[in-house]
Formats: sequence, structure tokens, C-alpha cells
Amino acid sequence: MQKDKDVEIVNIMIGIFCKRKHRSKNGLCQECQELADYAKARREKCPFGDNKTFCSNCKIHCYKPSMRQKISEVMRFSGPRMMFSHPIIAFRHVSETIKYKRKEKKEKNKAQKAQQQGEDNEK
Ligand SMILES: [Zn+2]
Repeated sequence: MQKDKDVEIVNIMIGIFCKRKHRSKNGLCQECQELADYAKARREKCPFGDNKTFCSNCKIHCYKPSMRQKISEVMRFSGPRMMFSHPIIAFRHVSETIKYKRKEKKEKNKAQKAQQQGEDNEK
């Protein structure tokens, strides 16, 4: 996922959220603008660069708690709504997430199996 795409998606989500929840008409309200700036700044500093999944799937969770709570609220609210306003981007997000979750599950299973084998050997 490219950095600017990731930032774009976050901005769209914040935009939907702000418009519906905060009834803002011209751009974002101050609170949401802060969140957007914060998300962008975090993404700029991301050690994974372009070679990473969406921030929402990221393992590092570099957001500070208050911002993390805000962004997850935004994603919960705007995620499903993006299906209608930006279906292609939303679909890509969903498929990336599924791919990521699948990979993570596979790695977890592998780790579990290795652990089980270790325990069996101890018997
Ligand atoms: Zn707002």
C-alpha cells in the first residue's frame, strides 16, 4: 500500500465521519483536521514505508491512545459507508484486510503447532 493512498483513504474516512457526525459543511472541523494531520504525520514516519498494509491493520499501532480511539471510531463509522461512496477503494481495503488476516492466522497456526510439538517432545 502506497503512503499517499493510505493517507487518502484515511482522509476520505475522516471526511465522511465529520460530515455526518459533526455536521461540518466546508472541510473538516478542527478536531477532525487534527486527527487527519496526526494520521498523516504518523504515516510519514512509518518505518514500513510503502511496503505495508493499511494503518488499521498495522501491528505497530503507533498512534497515541486518544488518537487511536478516535481513528477507530472513524473507521467503524465510515468503513461501511465507503462501500457506497467509494466502492473500489473500500473493496481494496477489505481484500487487503482479509489477505492480511489470513496471513496472520497462518503464522499463528504455525507458531501454535511448533509450540505443541515442543510440548509433545517434553513428555
Ligand atoms: Zn469533525
